[in-house]
Amino acid sequence: MILRVSPPSWKWQKVVSNYKNTPSHSSMKLEQAIAKIKKQAENELSSVGLAKDIEVLKVKYLGKKGLVGDLMPLLKTATPEERPVFGKLINDLKLFLTSCFNNILNDLSLKERNVQLENEAIDVTLPGRRSSFGRKHVTLRLLEEATEILRGMGFTVQYGPEIESEYYNYDALNFPKDHPAKDMQDTFYITTDTLLRTHTSNTQVRVMETSRPPIRIIAPGVCFRNEDVSARSHVTFHQVEGLYIDKNVTFTDLIGTLKNFFKRLFCRDLKMRFRPSYFPFVEPGMEVDIHCIVCEGKGCSVCKQTGWLEVSGAGMVHPEVLRSGGVDPEEYTGYAWGFGIERLAMLQYGIKDIRQFFENRVGFLSQF
Ligand SMILES: [Zn+2]
Repeated sequence: MILRVSPPSWKWQKVVSNYKNTPSHSSMKLEQAIAKIKKQAENELSSVGLAKDIEVLKVKYLGKKGLVGDLMPLLKTATPEERPVFGKLINDLKLFLTSCFNNILNDLSLKERNVQLENEAIDVTLPGRRSSFGRKHVTLRLLEEATEILRGMGFTVQYGPEIESEYYNYDALNFPKDHPAKDMQDTFYITTDTLLRTHTSNTQVRVMETSRPPIRIIAPGVCFRNEDVSARSHVTFHQVEGLYIDKNVTFTDLIGTLKNFFKRLFCRDLKMRFRPSYFPFVEPGMEVDIHCIVCEGKGCSVCKQTGWLEVSGAGMVHPEVLRSGGVDPEEYTGYAWGFGIERLAMLQYGIKDIRQFFENRVGFLSQF
């Protein structure tokens, strides 16, 4: 390394020679010590190349217990006349070395910074890398959307267990003991009386047992059925159950609520029709159809050329179900409905195969 340093004022020879022609023995020793330290520092400085090594040398020479500091006790050995001269010499050495260290440090820091900048240089002409962002699953999004609409209509959210007793899933809902839905073909039994719920209606009687009317709840969640997997059915799907119990709740209230909900969900006025149907837990029961939102009723593959789409099963809560929940059917009436979220998503987005919701294909999911 080339030392590009300019010492402050090195008057070594001049001061000594001006002061005395024949210096004392102790001053000779001091003189040699100062010269030795200067020489040694210059040699060491010429062989280091990193700023951190210079810092180490700086401490070695100029630190509290450094080599220059060690010269001070030697001053006592000089004569009173020589002492101020050598004191000045030691001070000059200190200034000289300080200047050397600082100059070299600045130089090295600049070089290291330049190398760093060179290594970290950004080529602004390179094309950028695109980040891919995750998103909510289409089922979850629609479930949240439906929940928000219904919350806005005054319903509160209740969650029931996915692993359920046969009582809350079937018996309390007025299913006869020998109802075909209870058969092993349709239900995943865990033990003889424990099962994976087949609908979110299992929440109905649980809520009635713990709260008094008026009850106005929805129960969103996942359900399971032991069915063959096909384009139209799956072993797992999501439902939103609705339940309203109060004095003087009528069938008209149910129809008005469903009309209002589907109008808000599909963001348009919809023609609806209600067909009588049987479910053990409602009386009377019905199935709800809306005018096909794909073909506007003209007939297409989604609605199987009928112009109508089935979206929900509903009805007035059966008096036996009210009794199961400890609600007097002479005093209170109620309505209930259930709809499948995947079914609504299929209608909303024209998806023809329910299996796509569960296959986790990014190409499919990233469309929504
Ligand atoms: Zn259609």
